Amino acid sequence: MLWLTISCFSYAGTEQPTGGSYGLALDPVPTVNFVFLTPANAQQQQAKDIVQHSSILTTVRQLSQTRYVFAPSLDIVFGSTKGPNFDSTQNEIQIPYQYITQLLQHVAKTTPYTTQQQRYQATTDALLLTLLHEIGHAYILDRAIPILGNNETMVDNFVTILLLNDIDRGDEIAINSNQLFSIHAINDTPLSNNLFIQQHSLSQQRYQHILCLVYGSDPTRYQPLLDALPLVQQQQRQCNDIYSTTHQGWLYYLDI
Ligand SMILES: [Zn+2]
Repeated sequence: MLWLTISCFSYAGTEQPTGGSYGLALDPVPTVNFVFLTPANAQQQQAKDIVQHSSILTTVRQLSQTRYVFAPSLDIVFGSTKGPNFDSTQNEIQIPYQYITQLLQHVAKTTPYTTQQQRYQATTDALLLTLLHEIGHAYILDRAIPILGNNETMVDNFVTILLLNDIDRGDEIAINSNQLFSIHAINDTPLSNNLFIQQHSLSQQRYQHILCLVYGSDPTRYQPLLDALPLVQQQQRQCNDIYSTTHQGWLYYLDI
């Protein structure tokens, strides 16, 4: 399996979603709430700890102040029995602890990472991708955004635009975490039994589309990505246009 390393890229220029320029008094209120159900065993406790010690809660909360603003606010529940899923009747996103454990096992099995810190990072990166995906479904419904074309591709665009524009290391997450969810990486792993994964593992077409967006966002910077992916090379002239159109389209709907 091809594993992309993008260490040759410079990450300079990635932005934090909020700065201090508004001043404390005017900071917008977060519009997501995190709920952690009580872990039932040591493994679930480990999953909870991995999430709570990561930066993804801060990232998701900050974006809820500036980009996807929910009214009423959206609950994100960790420790549910089913999911990952957006439950529109409860207006909540549900993430089982078991899913986080399965992600960690998947990372250990399919990536070259050897240290616990690297594996935890890759696990929470993949979890961030999952959270943003479900937030995308929730946001499209909340804003009644017209679905023109495939709903999943529309959410892929939402997630990738946020990663590239608003999230530190977002390009790395877009490339490597989506690789973890590609169909050929999922086969015969513990993750393959999860309903969300069965519905969301990335076809070659969706995976290539996401990489095309990353490449198109800055062709000079991501030239090594193109070299590693001959299929994208065929589309390379179009990727810049596809990125620009997608970026403009989503900026219209994302608060700022
Ligand atoms: Zn989906």
